[in-house]
Amino acid sequence: MLYRPFGKTGKNISVISFGGMRFSTPKNLEKSADTLLHAQQQGINYFDTAPIYCGDRSEDIFGHAFRQLPRESFYVSTKCSQATGENLRKSLERSLQRLGVEQIDFLYIWHLMNPEDWENRQQQGAIEAALQAKEEGLIGHLLCSSHMEGEGLSKVLDEEIFEGVLLGYNAINFPYRRAAVEQAGKQGIGVVTMNPLGGGLIPQNPEHFAFLKTATANDVVSAALQFNLSHPAITTALVGFADIQEIDQAVAAVDSFIPYNKEQQRELQKNIEVSFNGFCTGCGYCLPCPVDIPIPKYLDSYNQLILTNGNRQAVLDRYRMHWNITPQQAKECIACGACEERCTQHLPIIQRLAELP
Ligand code: SF4
Ligand code: SF4
Repeated sequence: MLYRPFGKTGKNISVISFGGMRFSTPKNLEKSADTLLHAQQQGINYFDTAPIYCGDRSEDIFGHAFRQLPRESFYVSTKCSQATGENLRKSLERSLQRLGVEQIDFLYIWHLMNPEDWENRQQQGAIEAALQAKEEGLIGHLLCSSHMEGEGLSKVLDEEIFEGVLLGYNAINFPYRRAAVEQAGKQGIGVVTMNPLGGGLIPQNPEHFAFLKTATANDVVSAALQFNLSHPAITTALVGFADIQEIDQAVAAVDSFIPYNKEQQRELQKNIEVSFNGFCTGCGYCLPCPVDIPIPKYLDSYNQLILTNGNRQAVLDRYRMHWNITPQQAKECIACGACEERCTQHLPIIQRLAELP
């Protein structure tokens, strides 16, 4: 296993980290905890969970596994989405108790949606309460997670409150997030990438992602992980593991890891542009829209419609869970055509917005 320094925290983190949101049998505490223990034996030392994962079972599973491990053999992160200081504190204390640790190594201010949400969390006391808990030693390091686009998130990071950031970054959405990854790199803070496998879309659609393969990564899972880890600012790729086989596959993928050089990265970028012909790359050049439709978010959701062969529920889930957008706003398009003139992929944006659920 390879390890990288987590920003300026003084901690070295495995480049593959364990996400506790996809246990295949979350009701079976023993079996699920064994999955985590297996990962630890393979050299993974960073374990990420959250209160509501797996029907609210994930933190208990983690706690069950952690009680069988020496404390110095793992780092744990969990999350708080509460806006008020009081509620954040309650959530944190519950997590500590369920995880069976005296300190959460990394606590995330969870799921910052937009600049207004960020302001609200500050005004309502969540950030102050988290910093206070850090002073008390209940938290090792404070981080944030976000689905904001790169520039908005960069402004949050500029405030230098957080020692690391968790964001989605993969071969599908990287143009949308690149600015934040680069900003984090400049600040020298830790970067954890979620959804390195596109929420399962990459392994489920190997033909679409075959262009990612290289001499050292001849399957799309290995290739997607190597794509992620080739970015020098990225500390670790967080993978939601369902079982032991998935862990072994991911660990094997980084065993043969050689970062892409600049030339290979340029080549890959070109391949992505060609192979994603017909897909929204999230570049944002279509904006602004006169009626303020966040076009890249809807067009990303349309990508899911293509990749899931028309599964409209998957799109609705993407709106709600990933982007916090509603079906209604897409219908407000006045068909002015400005976005289509600017779209780098020449996509029929107006038609796609109309087809979305
Ligand atoms: S065509 Fe629709 S989505 Fe595009 S800029 Fe005009 S109003 Fe916005
Ligand atoms: S719709 Fe076109 S311009 Fe807008 S983000 Fe997607 S690819 Fe880029």
